[in-house]
Amino acid sequence: MQLKADIQYVKGVGPARAEAFHKLSVDTAGALLRYYPRAYEDWSQIVPIREMPENTPCCIRATVCHTPEKIRVPGGLLLFKTSVTDGEGLLNLTFFNNKYIGKMLKEGEEYLFFGKATRNRYGAREMASPLFQKPQSANAIRPIYPSTAALPTKTIEKCVRAVLDSLDAPIPDILPEDIRLKNKLCTLDTAIRHIHFPPDEAALEEARRRLIFDELFLLQLGLLQMKSRTQTLKTDCVVQTDAFPEFCKLLPFTMTGAQQRAVKEATADMRSGEPMNRLLQGDVGSGKTAVAAALVFTAAKNGMQSAVMAPTEVLAEQHYRTFRNFFKGTGFEVALLTGSTPTAQKRKIKAALAAGEIQLAVGTHALLQEDVEFSRLGLVVTDEQHRFGVAQRASLSAKGDNPHILVMSATPIPRTLGLILYGDLNVSVLDELPPGRQTIETYCVGSSYHQRIYKFIDKHIERGLQAYIVCPLVEEGEGNLIPAEEYYETLSKGVFRHRRLGLLHGRMKPKEKDEVMRAFAAGELDILVATVVIEVGVDVPNAAVIVIENAERFGLSQLHQLRGRVGRGKEKSTCILVSDAQNEEATERFRVLCETTDGFKIADADLKLRGPGDFFGKRQHGLPALHLADILRDTEMLVTVRRAAEDLLKQDPALTAPEHTALRKQTDKMFSAASVG
Ligand code: ADP
Ligand code: MG
Repeated sequence: MQLKADIQYVKGVGPARAEAFHKLSVDTAGALLRYYPRAYEDWSQIVPIREMPENTPCCIRATVCHTPEKIRVPGGLLLFKTSVTDGEGLLNLTFFNNKYIGKMLKEGEEYLFFGKATRNRYGAREMASPLFQKPQSANAIRPIYPSTAALPTKTIEKCVRAVLDSLDAPIPDILPEDIRLKNKLCTLDTAIRHIHFPPDEAALEEARRRLIFDELFLLQLGLLQMKSRTQTLKTDCVVQTDAFPEFCKLLPFTMTGAQQRAVKEATADMRSGEPMNRLLQGDVGSGKTAVAAALVFTAAKNGMQSAVMAPTEVLAEQHYRTFRNFFKGTGFEVALLTGSTPTAQKRKIKAALAAGEIQLAVGTHALLQEDVEFSRLGLVVTDEQHRFGVAQRASLSAKGDNPHILVMSATPIPRTLGLILYGDLNVSVLDELPPGRQTIETYCVGSSYHQRIYKFIDKHIERGLQAYIVCPLVEEGEGNLIPAEEYYETLSKGVFRHRRLGLLHGRMKPKEKDEVMRAFAAGELDILVATVVIEVGVDVPNAAVIVIENAERFGLSQLHQLRGRVGRGKEKSTCILVSDAQNEEATERFRVLCETTDGFKIADADLKLRGPGDFFGKRQHGLPALHLADILRDTEMLVTVRRAAEDLLKQDPALTAPEHTALRKQTDKMFSAASVG
């Protein structure tokens, strides 16, 4: 059998199972080998019955005391009960709905049993439906696969074994031999065999190390290549005149040290003759917009146009207002272009952009999709980078002749991690908040506090301040969740009937959203009931309270972003998390939030709680998923891998040598995936 053989032709797989495998994105024999176990049953560590841990899977070796007895339970359930002993301890076993158990387990014979032990109400030890096998036929460590109803883990195990037993040749290695040996890695063939069927713990570790190395190595190789592709580009958009001092005079405030540093780093890029490719990372409220504005101003002073792209219309609209304010009296023209710009106006803006009469276009995706032409596009800024993939970045660049690119992200990640992950970008960090920021007090309360919360909000409105109330869902709630629309109705007719309320959610028309947002920003509304649409970027300094309902439904970073909507003005602000959730993970999230407002600390905690896979989101970075590698845990390996990838590219920048073909194919896949989005 060959690796590229259709999954259907694997022994034990017919059309029906093939269909089930397709659902798991397993289409070939090779893909099945890459479908790794999610855990293992360790049958090699035998625990005495007396020392069995509770509720943790373990393995015991014991003799069956008596043939399992059949017990009929009302409702037709079939139960078998027996007990086993290892000479010292006694354990009751229960099996459900398996009529063969009576024949399979023989009195007086010894078996290995694998399962979780509990205690019944009389204090006796019990195990329900344990797996069992004869000691002599035992496989020490058995794989457990992520399974579905159509494909139980035992079926997957059999199919994997069938593939491994019928391969024509060893699995070809993708790593060049010298790199493999230098890093003391086993062959890919061994690694794949052992990740499924490890003879022992050490072999499993070896296999994991090898496969993790591969994942990280490909990631680094791809990122480094991307970086070098952009670095070897030349651009005509070269900044000659530094306009920063002049820009500073336009600002109503003094830039923080961090902002100034970021502007200088980016300006240096823009002078270099190569297109800038920079990530600007800064916590909520750190003032990323002003940094972008400084660069837009510099570009304009040097005869170049800029595009600022935001992920939502609400945000685009806000940026439009902000930039127009910054550039008042400079003679620079700013235009807003979104999906809901009227056609006639769109036409006018497009003509003016093509003629070079507009210095800055602010917009959403519309900026890319429409047939927008620039006369001389020199700078592209994308805000809140985690909403855009690598692909969009590329298509924006294509609008100009290698323009400079600044990507702004509010997702703070540890600096070293950022450098490695965003290997294709240079990074500037705003690690300082503007002075005079009010602290945000954070509280976590149960839903019984609602009346007090409403009074609290009302007192703030009395003083001329505003509030957000955030709900997790728009429509029909599940369980006791609060649908935003219904909640809005209830509040406007109930406790807040004397106040001006607005509703904002993702299902509304862009025009309606804009109008509500504009009204809230202008102080024409007291309370904004909203879903997570306000998560990113929204800047209304007069809002001093944010209440987050069903807070357990939000991730840590998301809660942090939401909280960042307040604490932007002169008033002390408050964030109230409302939740009745008892689970440990949610409680831990709330604890972290109440304890700190430092985005970097929160990002660290988030990584620890959720793992990097979720943290970055699979689709967001446009990079291959890491199956075994864990960026936090494997940092040491990352450093080694990074060096190995750099060395390799120094020898063979385009990976054209025959022994690097396999690697090149893999990284090419990465690029084409990125451009498809
Ligand atoms: P974010 O980094 O979250 O995008 P913004 O750019 O929206 O932050 O800035 C948040 C607020 O801080 C804005 O109201 C902005 O005018 C203000 N701001 C930015 N930089 C400074 C500064 N150096 N001093 C005082 N206020 C600032
Ligand atoms: Mg912002």
